[in-house]
Amino acid sequence: MTNLTRIENLDCLPRDEMRVLLESYTPEDAECLFIRARKVRERVYGRAVYLRGLIEISSYCKNDCYYCGLRKSNQRAQRYRLSKEEILKCCEEGYALGLRTFVLQGGEDSWFDDERLCDIVHEIRRGWPDCAITLSLGERGRESYAALFEAGANRYLLRHETANEKHYQSLHPEELTLRNRLRCLRDLREVGYQAGCGFMVGSPGQTVDCLLDDLDFLRDFRPEMVGIGPFLPHGDTPFAQEPPGSPELTLLLLGIVRVLLPGALLPATTALGTASPDGRERGLLAGANVIMPNISPARVRGKYMIYDGKETRGMEGLQGRVEGLGLEITNVRGDAIELE
Ligand code: SAH
Repeated sequence: MTNLTRIENLDCLPRDEMRVLLESYTPEDAECLFIRARKVRERVYGRAVYLRGLIEISSYCKNDCYYCGLRKSNQRAQRYRLSKEEILKCCEEGYALGLRTFVLQGGEDSWFDDERLCDIVHEIRRGWPDCAITLSLGERGRESYAALFEAGANRYLLRHETANEKHYQSLHPEELTLRNRLRCLRDLREVGYQAGCGFMVGSPGQTVDCLLDDLDFLRDFRPEMVGIGPFLPHGDTPFAQEPPGSPELTLLLLGIVRVLLPGALLPATTALGTASPDGRERGLLAGANVIMPNISPARVRGKYMIYDGKETRGMEGLQGRVEGLGLEITNVRGDAIELE
């Protein structure tokens, strides 16, 4: 089978054929895939690019993931947490800029217990009833997810990180398990959230087989959103000396996921934009349809350092760059479109 036929039959490609594509794609194959991915996106979502205002609410974390700069063992991380007032102010400013989704992301910080978080979510829901509220606060109990949903949250981002058990264990300390991560994702879905998962490309120890496991998992779970970005090393983690993941392979996987899950919301991630200066634009050209400008307060910008060099771009210049690609920024909530 030529790679071209592989791309045409992507949705029903046997694992071995997909392996060959991932291992031996040419730039021409990638281009061909991106054309296909753009067609699929256009069919489902037209030219729309959805914006999500990212508010990084806490850099405290009780976990010790080997890849992340916010891991609890990193004594050099700058820790902060936003107050409720600061978070509400971000929403107010974001709304004025046209944003209709707010994403509250943070490390696993026990200070943000259900009571405090539900109060914040409730206030946002009350103040901006036409907006979607997305949470990305890691692993919690089902009851907690349910309480936050009740308070008004609509979506939850929890990357599965890798769907391969062995690989998962090599990226995390023993107490963090793929099993629990997937339990969380299933709970989120059952509670009623639009669920987002995702993975890093090129994380240490990742093989092509791990990526095939990720694709199998996505096909099976069919998340509403998928975040895919290259692994980027952070100097104060055990993975400081590991090489970064490839932006090209990240783009290829974005294109593949667009074709496999036509209705998925796919961000051109911050990591992709950090790994390559025009990474976000290339992400949109590969099939992504979401951008998450950072709207965290100035006092904490640059302190949510999950990897070195993380860019903190907000809305500046975004419109022009998106229109330059023949796409358009829209100010609607942008919920996932359900397909048959
Ligand atoms: N505590 C939350 C949010 C984590 S930050 C949670 O567990 O979901 C969001 C994502 O950043 C993570 O899920 C991970 O995929 C990504 N990330 C963390 N460290 C990274 C690194 N060094 N390089 C690239 N991406 C990273």
